[in-house]
Amino acid sequence: MVWTSELIVHDEAIRANTAHFAAATGGRLMAVLKADAFGHGAIAHSVLEAGAASLGVTSIDEALALRAGGVSAPILSWLNPVDADFAAAVLADVDLAVASPVLLHAVARAASLVRRRARVHLHVDVGMARDGSPVEAWPALCTIARELEHLGSLHVVGIMGHMSCADQPGHPQNQRERLLFANAVRTARRRGLAPSVAHLAATAATVTGVGAGFGLHRIGAGLFGIDPSGTSRELRPALSLTTHVVTSREVATGTGIGYGLDHVADRRTHLALLPLGYGDGLPRAASERAGVLVRGRRRPLVGRFSMDMVVVDTGEDEVAPGEPVTVFGPGAHGEPTVADWAGWADTIEHEIVTRVGSRVARVHRTSTSEMSGTTKTAETTGPHRGEAVDA
Ligand SMILES: *Cc1c(COP(=O)(O)O)cnc(C)c1O
Repeated sequence: MVWTSELIVHDEAIRANTAHFAAATGGRLMAVLKADAFGHGAIAHSVLEAGAASLGVTSIDEALALRAGGVSAPILSWLNPVDADFAAAVLADVDLAVASPVLLHAVARAASLVRRRARVHLHVDVGMARDGSPVEAWPALCTIARELEHLGSLHVVGIMGHMSCADQPGHPQNQRERLLFANAVRTARRRGLAPSVAHLAATAATVTGVGAGFGLHRIGAGLFGIDPSGTSRELRPALSLTTHVVTSREVATGTGIGYGLDHVADRRTHLALLPLGYGDGLPRAASERAGVLVRGRRRPLVGRFSMDMVVVDTGEDEVAPGEPVTVFGPGAHGEPTVADWAGWADTIEHEIVTRVGSRVARVHRTSTSEMSGTTKTAETTGPHRGEAVDA
């Protein structure tokens, strides 16, 4: 199968970002690979080779898939429903984050069934009212965990929290959440637990330093060049989305383009049709704002985005079917970046990178050295195999 559109994953950038965070955290780095590694696919071995000590995901299925892919490093899974397959997780040596007594009992029961001890990270909510135990329920949760430890069905190895406002380093909430977290760790110890690690900081809290001082850093976005605090200068974007022109045509002044004819050509111009739409993850809210790189220049996308296609105005240039188009990339050659797309769609970069659809081939470039001049290797992995390419 020939894929018209490709999502190119720049492995070197992910390795460089990982090495940056490994150095910044003294090696205490958990690489968060949820949501198919923020849309970047099979990069677990790259981050482990580049310095991540463990991996984090939001489901047992993701953890088991990593194990099946040969990952032997520690893996933590959080956000599991009460009927999740905890027994499979325990048998696969997957650590489980737990935030309520009901879940704690479910994990203990599953571990007893398979005659193993579950490795548990108790999760405390320090301020988002989302995942994690409410602070009021925390002492009781610790007590139950200690009882289950005595019974031999689990071992509390970690305490986990997550900050709400770390992307704003001056926000007063940060200090409050750090204190709540430190208190929660103290409470756990007082109740007889002996966790070997506490972890509070994600990317923003690590970059800005507001989550420093605890044992481990759970880094997701930063590995992929996304810094929610907007303060780091050292991270490299790791994705390019490319496609090819399907057809092109010349249109007269006054020609309406797309559903509703929202866009009307104000001059004689050339239009090229691209086989990507909101069904492939291009945010429809970016209609009439976004652009793409064609023949080395930024050109506007015109008219409302459709599900499967968008139209680019190439002005004087009559481009041919099959000509390459860069939708986004690291930005080094004038192409729009993921940050540009996020701005056009009034959203965050995370949403752009996690939404690229299954009709787009994932291509992993394992070397992107632009200096060497040697032939670079590439391979495709993940659920959607594409053509192997030379970088
Ligand atoms: C997604 C997530 C992370 C990683 O956050 P980033 O900001 O992407 O680094 C860490 N911890 C939890 C609980 C998460 O859900």
